[in-house]
Amino acid sequence: IQSVIRHASRLYNDTEIVSVTADHPQHRYTLGDALARAGQLANGFEALGLKKGDRVATMAWNDFRHFELYFGISGFGGVTHTINPRLHPEQLIYIMNDASDKVLFIDPMFVPLIDAIRSQLKTVEHVVVMTSDAGSVGDYLLYEDFLAAHSSEYAWPEDTDEHQAAALCYTSGTTGNPKGVLYSHRTMLLHAMGLSQPDALCLSRQSVILPVVPMFHINAWSIPFACAMIGTKIVFPGPKVMDFEALTNMFIDEKVTLTAGVPTIWGGMAQYLQKTGKKVPHLERMVVGGSACPPYLMEYFSKEQGVNVIHAWGMTETSPLGTCNSSLPAAASSWDADKQHQQRLKQGYPVFGVELKIVDEAGEELPWDGTTQGYLHIRGLWICDGYFNQPDTRGNDWFDTGDIAVIDEFGCMRIMDRAKDLIKSGGEWISSSDIENIVQGHPDILQAAVIATAHPKWDERPLLIVVPKEGVQVKGDELLKYLEGKVATWWIPDDVLFAESLPINATGKVQKNELRETYQDYKH
Ligand code: ATP
Ligand code: MG
Repeated sequence: IQSVIRHASRLYNDTEIVSVTADHPQHRYTLGDALARAGQLANGFEALGLKKGDRVATMAWNDFRHFELYFGISGFGGVTHTINPRLHPEQLIYIMNDASDKVLFIDPMFVPLIDAIRSQLKTVEHVVVMTSDAGSVGDYLLYEDFLAAHSSEYAWPEDTDEHQAAALCYTSGTTGNPKGVLYSHRTMLLHAMGLSQPDALCLSRQSVILPVVPMFHINAWSIPFACAMIGTKIVFPGPKVMDFEALTNMFIDEKVTLTAGVPTIWGGMAQYLQKTGKKVPHLERMVVGGSACPPYLMEYFSKEQGVNVIHAWGMTETSPLGTCNSSLPAAASSWDADKQHQQRLKQGYPVFGVELKIVDEAGEELPWDGTTQGYLHIRGLWICDGYFNQPDTRGNDWFDTGDIAVIDEFGCMRIMDRAKDLIKSGGEWISSSDIENIVQGHPDILQAAVIATAHPKWDERPLLIVVPKEGVQVKGDELLKYLEGKVATWWIPDDVLFAESLPINATGKVQKNELRETYQDYKH
């Protein structure tokens, strides 16, 4: 990380950074300013007596102070532990104690939350509130005071071992308790380089990137480093990611060319753009990942907005980039538009730096023929070695992703489902995510989830739960009819239930564990 700081301070001091925070509706400064402030932070950590390897936590949105912290903490030799603020308080306590965080940086919005759990955070010695507004910090330290007390001159260490930990991030907690993953300086750098390459984000000095994926998740961790390596302008939306008017205006005003986020966000933005007829003319590439990209999103943004929609797959454990479909294989030039579209809906090709295989229950490798389903295993330059504070259960260099996938003869991977979410009906598999994607394409449906429910004859049967768009009336029968001809007859759920919302986690993913619990007594 220090090498990125040195490189950027020599070449890209003038790169622009724009950001929204509670105390600044539109903060504008340069990469040079950010790195000078990172130097103040590093001096501050020394003054607090922090040592190399100590964990410093952040609970914050995508904004300029969070950006400075990445460089200040990891550059100093500490481990940046980014925390998902929407976790349950018990999970927050568990994570901070598990990581033994020494200092905690928080957005002012989280002061009451931390007040409530402060006494249970056993290792946290200081809490710093990321604002210039002294009125909103309660009993804690004010970020701008913490910085002002220290010089920006800092001799970034030159003897860092590349295998030393630089970051710690817990998984999204979609399927259970979040698991901690440690990333070394080497892992972060290799991933940032992999992410920037033409087959992935294709970052350049001319790009303008707006990361919607939260910086508290590893999904966005590498973006600031990749941008600092290349001198790419960044626009940070702050907490405004669900305010689609504000978000759209940022895309237009700052001439954003590249963005990344989960389908839930892009679904909301597509609805807003359709309603207002607005265009985002500068946007060239949009990464959609974290869960499967519904076909209507791909269609809307590519056809109506002229955007290259990059469907990507990754996990916290893979730093996260595993596959993406940013460019199709040479053979695709002879394919018709529909075949190209179908291929783009898949999760894509492994980017250089990772290898994939699919295996059966016994671990035997399965063919890449476009139809055989298997457990997806991955290895490569930025794949984690195991979980933080947990015994190593891996045993070999391949990592079992927990996803079920198919790989075609071109090497293009398609996720069928999470192994835990597949539905086994009459001895055959049903992909919940395939059904969800189709239902989400229905014009009246906002969100859909399919879960397995116990069935006396078939073992399990799919149950469809939907959230209709505001103010529309949809009939269950009509939805089931809509599925006819689009999936095998026996995949069509027996019943549809309506809900006002679905339980989602902070990354925007539906928590099917919770849904399965809610509907565990459902009777066919
Ligand atoms: P936890 O491991 O704590 O239960 P999580 O798996 O949701 O949470 P992440 O690491 O954020 O935590 O997510 C990785 C998972 O997200 C993948 O294993 C996969 O199931 C799903 N995923 C990511 N990208 C895609 C995609 N493009 N299409 C389908 N699924 C995806
Ligand atoms: Mg997972």
